[in-house]
Amino acid sequence: MPGRGPLLSASGLEVHFKLPGESGRLRAVDGVSFEIGRSEIFGLIGESGSGKSTIARAIMCLEPINGGQVTLDGTRLDQLRGKALRRQRRRVQMVFQDPHESLDPRMTVRQAIEEPLRLGRTGSRAARRARVVDLLNRVGLDESYVGRMAYTMSGGQKQRVNIARALALEPELLVCDEAVSALDVSVRAGIINLLTSLQRELQISVLFISHDLGVVAHLADRIGVLYLGRLAEVSETESLSARPRHPYTEMLLAAEPQPRPSSHRAARAPSISGEAPSAARPPSGCRFRTRCRYAQERCVQEEPALRPLEGGALVACHRAEELELTGRRA
Ligand code: SF4
Repeated sequence: MPGRGPLLSASGLEVHFKLPGESGRLRAVDGVSFEIGRSEIFGLIGESGSGKSTIARAIMCLEPINGGQVTLDGTRLDQLRGKALRRQRRRVQMVFQDPHESLDPRMTVRQAIEEPLRLGRTGSRAARRARVVDLLNRVGLDESYVGRMAYTMSGGQKQRVNIARALALEPELLVCDEAVSALDVSVRAGIINLLTSLQRELQISVLFISHDLGVVAHLADRIGVLYLGRLAEVSETESLSARPRHPYTEMLLAAEPQPRPSSHRAARAPSISGEAPSAARPPSGCRFRTRCRYAQERCVQEEPALRPLEGGALVACHRAEELELTGRRA
């Protein structure tokens, strides 16, 4: 029933791509299930090729799905078409990675932010213009920006405009796909802080996708760790950082920059090692086994299911109960 339960739910999500010149298909997203609560920030982390951006596109109905379902507040998005789909899609908006490409260079800031309101026939012209100024203020830009063209602004300013545009239709879920990755480090913190304060102020839900665990951990309530199109772990951010339950999460944490001298890190897990295999040809059994220092014979034969552990984490590892993973505790 709408209004109860999670805001968004992905269940057994499958997205496959045809490989040029090959008979097989790339299972970019291969049975992924997670939920995003109301006013929750859910982080999705994974290396390049893990399927995280494909999941974002599937949620936005920009990518057809091959299996499973996406439900927004009780309504199956993947079954909607035409007007019904457009009505639901207003409720989910996206901020893309590249702030430069996301803005039409021929538009002023006012036109860019007003466009979704105009296309959605929302309010009078005067009301829409007042809303543009209000949105600019919310993202930390003043009214003087309304006449600016994209090429006169920095990457950080453009991403603020993109966020204002995404908020124009008052979405309930904001999907941020690597929204700070293309920005200078000095600008990144400002955008992360802006997203955090907007989420608190507007009480919206956020799906925050990044390859950078440090960034995701800074703002997410819960984190899902993706590996080769499948979830390896889903945990509360604090417990994932303090006590990772999957060896891949441990590896990601060990690769994070540390404030302590390297000699103090001798006992830590090795930082990220080896290349991820191609998602087109994942290893047999556990997909992570070719990079896992804890792999055993069972891991070659049997694919671990994502299952709940004591404490609430969901983990796909045969040895999750017996391993004492180190995470940041060196
Ligand atoms: Fe490593 Fe085996 Fe666990 Fe996979 S199932 S993460 S290979 S220990």
